[in-house]
Amino acid sequence: MEERRKIKCDCKRFFEEKEIEVNGISVKAMVCPGCKHVTFTKEQALEYARLKEIHSLMDNERSIIKIGNSVGITLPEKLGLKPGKKVRTEAIDSKSFKVVFG
Ligand SMILES: [Zn+2]
Repeated sequence: MEERRKIKCDCKRFFEEKEIEVNGISVKAMVCPGCKHVTFTKEQALEYARLKEIHSLMDNERSIIKIGNSVGITLPEKLGLKPGKKVRTEAIDSKSFKVVFG
């Protein structure tokens, strides 16, 4: 693995990678421990763009549909999921679950 490059802020402190919230999206970014300036590396910016796209596709109300003897919800094709692909579902609490793919 490539050694991580240190990035120095104008205030002379080194940026540290932290999980922050940007427009309601939790994402990793470089944060200066001194002046709290925030910046993204190229990889973090690409991850933020991808997360933003996924949120715009998924943060929505959906109707339950009947599929044979089961029920389901539809997912947008733009997620890049194909019929037959295995995904993992996992309960979060009594009212929510997550779908892990990729
Ligand atoms: Zn700084």
